[in-house]
Amino acid sequence: MLMGEDEETGIAEVRLGDCPICGGKNTLKAIQHVHEIPYFGKVMESTIICERCGYRNADVMILEEREPKLYTVRVEDEKDLSTRVVRSKSGTIELEEVGVKIEPGPAAEGFVSNVEGVLERAKNALLMAKDFKKQEGDEDAVEKIDRILDYMEEVREGKKPLTVSVMDPFGNSALIGEKVRSRLLTEEELKKLSLGPYRIIEPSAENGEDQGDQG
Ligand SMILES: [Zn+2]
Repeated sequence: MLMGEDEETGIAEVRLGDCPICGGKNTLKAIQHVHEIPYFGKVMESTIICERCGYRNADVMILEEREPKLYTVRVEDEKDLSTRVVRSKSGTIELEEVGVKIEPGPAAEGFVSNVEGVLERAKNALLMAKDFKKQEGDEDAVEKIDRILDYMEEVREGKKPLTVSVMDPFGNSALIGEKVRSRLLTEEELKKLSLGPYRIIEPSAENGEDQGDQG
């Protein structure tokens, strides 16, 4: 499954050259998988792998409509947990009621999942942070993390609401579902977003025609 090229399933392997981590000669490759999300469009998931040191990093890219947008969904029952989440390395996810923000950074990974999957990822990150705070003897921080974990558990059971937002200055991240609302990000919001490993490139003239679309 990981080797060779397959047009039908949209899986391709690309040689990227030398590994920036271990310096291996031509040991870096990318496995790219293009697939279609119903009512949305094509996305490409890619995983970079070094055959020598085992370095791995995943990202995702939206291949069709790409605009710097803010997507929001209010999760109120278990059904809303299945709202699709496309998060690229440049995407920021905010879980409003619990004050949790997943931002781009050197270790950020792209993924295609749903709100339930994002809650699981956030939980794992919070449990790690909790261990760290415990070792530091920071009781207040441990208590605060426990409160967040409790709240997120109630969201999963459909007992508490949660407002989930996704923002991406490059338009490579999105929320997809019936209740999702979206609009273009304002200049001010764009300035405040962390960009992770990316830089903003001046938009080309041909992208200009879509600027008025509010989704
Ligand atoms: Zn390597």
